Amino acid sequence: MIKVWKVEVAVVGGGAAGMAAAAAAAREGASVLLLERNTCLGGVLDQCIHPGFGLHRYKEELTGPEFAFRLHTELEKARVEVAFSHTVINVNPQKPEILAVGPNGLVRVQAKAVVWACGAWERPLGHLLIPGTRPAGIFTAGLAQRLVNIHGLLPGRRVLILGSGDIGLIMARRFHLEGAEVVGVAEIKPFPGGLLRNVRQCLEDYGIPLFLRTTVSEIHGRDRLTGVTLVEVDEQGKTIPGTERFIKVDTLVLSVGLIPEIRLLEGFLSCDHVQRGPRVNSFWQTEHPWLFVVGNALVVFDLVDTVAAVGEEAGRFAARFACGEMQGEPCVPLKRGQNVAALVPQAFIPGEPARLFLRVIRPFPKARVKISPVYSKVHLGLRPAEMVEIRLSSEATAELQRCSEATVEVHPQ
Ligand SMILES: Cc1cc2nc3c(=O)[nH]c(=O)nc-3n(C[C@H](O)[C@H](O)[C@H](O)COP(=O)(O)OP(=O)(O)OC[C@H]3O[C@@H](n4cnc5c(N)ncnc54)[C@H](O)[C@@H]3O)c2cc1C
Repeated sequence: MIKVWKVEVAVVGGGAAGMAAAAAAAREGASVLLLERNTCLGGVLDQCIHPGFGLHRYKEELTGPEFAFRLHTELEKARVEVAFSHTVINVNPQKPEILAVGPNGLVRVQAKAVVWACGAWERPLGHLLIPGTRPAGIFTAGLAQRLVNIHGLLPGRRVLILGSGDIGLIMARRFHLEGAEVVGVAEIKPFPGGLLRNVRQCLEDYGIPLFLRTTVSEIHGRDRLTGVTLVEVDEQGKTIPGTERFIKVDTLVLSVGLIPEIRLLEGFLSCDHVQRGPRVNSFWQTEHPWLFVVGNALVVFDLVDTVAAVGEEAGRFAARFACGEMQGEPCVPLKRGQNVAALVPQAFIPGEPARLFLRVIRPFPKARVKISPVYSKVHLGLRPAEMVEIRLSSEATAELQRCSEATVEVHPQ
């Protein structure tokens, strides 16, 4: 017999987003069940032992585990029930019903609303189509971080990092501090992919070189990696013949992007082709009004403080939905215009305040961000790594009701 669990709000994933959503939904008065596949909460935070978390939410600089502990305390205060070691394996496309596998077998969770907070997965080597052999010694950055920080294992002695996103930068410093030689970080774009503070604190402070407009064109080695070929690329990202050089390394760490973990939802949700997360409205609600998506499962956020804040909002809306206080509201679509990469949400509810997050496609020292006719502001120092947050008042979104759609655009000044 399958155990059946009946709750008002089911939250899937116990990272920052899921914990914040579950606590907020419970504070609204809903009965909440949080399902987490691991034996502890925190998600990726548990392996992020560096400081840099919580400056906005707690006005303190915390490590990842400290930030997770604070959220865990909020969760306990709100008396959220947590099902540890429960992996969700199916979501019913027709209704808020979930199937999970736990220590005692299958569990069916019947809810009135579901908050999906399953984080993101790392792009693996197979996505990069790099020719050569497939020896041991190639790791994604998150896996390398887990091996070093949780298991106390050093994956290699001479390391090249491919990709200059935040995880890659942080792992360059980590390998260096653990005594490995980091020969450099190679980045295909003409600018670093991570936060500037991480470029300074993780590379420059330790003399680790950053090779811009450079990528790996070949992998060498049979049993263990013996080296890689680095090559420079032109403005279109095409390799420049004659610029190849062999670099002797025993470890290649890939920090080449995260993809929202929504594989169980893909068959019945429409997704945004740029960030590969689902399309949501400003209540963080998908086209199935009972299904809310938050955190890195929606879009890869830069700061955990934002992840927690959005999770909390979604938790509150999910509780209101579960209690019948709101339905699927009519929305005005929000489109991605010039120079905008990631964008969430993709629709807003007229007459309700809205928070938008966007990333630009390349750095702009000075640019005007426009949502005609309600928002137009000059922003300084826009960079793809740092999300821009825009808040629209209820008056502003009410005014947009007259438009069939709105577009967010970024114009260099
Ligand atoms: C290396 C690194 C450094 C960072 N540095 C900073 C920093 O300095 N400052 C900062 O503010 N932010 C930083 N961040 C960002 C921040 O940590 C993340 O944005 C945030 O923690 C993501 O939270 P999440 O809940 O969306 O996802 P996750 O933390 O990934 O949580 C997802 C959870 O869902 C669970 N799950 C997945 N699938 C299932 C399933 N089918 N069933 C049940 N459970 C499931 C997972 O086990 C996990 O616990 C960093 C991130 C990384 C990776």
